[in-house]
Amino acid sequence: MRGHAQHEHDHGHDHHGHEPSGCGAGHHPSVESIVDRAERLCQDRGLQFTRLRRDVLAEVAGEHRPLGAYDIAERMSAPGRRVAAVSVYRALDFLTEQGFVHRISSRNAFVSCGHEHGEGAGLVFLICRTCGGIDEMTAPAVENALGETLAVAGFTPTSRILEVEGECGACRGRVGAPAEPVE
Ligand SMILES: [Zn+2]
Ligand SMILES: [Zn+2]
Repeated sequence: MRGHAQHEHDHGHDHHGHEPSGCGAGHHPSVESIVDRAERLCQDRGLQFTRLRRDVLAEVAGEHRPLGAYDIAERMSAPGRRVAAVSVYRALDFLTEQGFVHRISSRNAFVSCGHEHGEGAGLVFLICRTCGGIDEMTAPAVENALGETLAVAGFTPTSRILEVEGECGACRGRVGAPAEPVE
């Protein structure tokens, strides 16, 4: 008997597939293409892309919002086939190391990466507090400035991921312009 089985069916909307209106930025690749790409890269790198790793990546890639390990385990579990959160964590470690997913520290949750940025790229995540959506950007200007700041401080970063919370353009009633530059 488990204590929490609520919020499984209360997602008001989901963002899969094609939107007929076609007015989105359109940069969110399909689950299939993300999983295929990961599989190819694992082959190139001589790494095992196990079924568990594949399934975890597919769950994360299929969701517009960051997912926690427990949510993922819950979604992957079926009657008679319980997936342990610890296994999901292990798979997430692998996927994060390989750059297929990113960890959002402020949420302790994960999003898939559909970009092809380099390993050490500075990333900016825009996290909408209204819809929970998340957008990933590389921002060279921010990265350079951050690099200088860190050098001055004599600080060696282990990750250079910035998380900015706020409200996305869609939630603000769709501001026509693309995202404003981060200052
Ligand atoms: Zn990325
Ligand atoms: Zn939003």
